Amino acid sequence: MTAVEIDGRGKLSAEIAHMVPQHTGKCRRLHGHSVSLSVRVEADQLDQQGFVLDFTHVKPMMKELLEQLDHHTLLADHSYVKDEHQVRVETPDKHYSFPEEDVVILPVFATTAEEMAKWAGTEIWKKIPEEDQDRITYAEVTFWETENTGATFVMWNRRE
Ligand SMILES: [Zn+2]
Repeated sequence: MTAVEIDGRGKLSAEIAHMVPQHTGKCRRLHGHSVSLSVRVEADQLDQQGFVLDFTHVKPMMKELLEQLDHHTLLADHSYVKDEHQVRVETPDKHYSFPEEDVVILPVFATTAEEMAKWAGTEIWKKIPEEDQDRITYAEVTFWETENTGATFVMWNRRE
């Protein structure tokens, strides 16, 4: 087995704002993070170039996802109401209103690191060519909320 990893911490990153309305602690308030992505891939057989996976294809995918998020407020897709060009988030005790262009709506239950890792992993995995997918034995993505706190989503696992 051979493994390769892109550790994007501090390099492949984006500035985001979010809140976790259902959280009982401080995460329910609007706050910001410098988030980054890392990807790890394993294979038993290398491709014709001698790579586990050509990371010159994967890095742009990671960058593209981060660019979508950068300098936006992230919202879960079930959590908002749109009216005119404003997006409203209403929780039992709070009301937020954002200009539409300032937010990114994501197909997640909440914008936690766990759910964001799953979103990023799903997006990356579907763009990896089928012949590479067939060769890969394990692939994971980590969504870092800080330099040392993140959540990992396993995109693919058929380790022996
Ligand atoms: Zn947070």
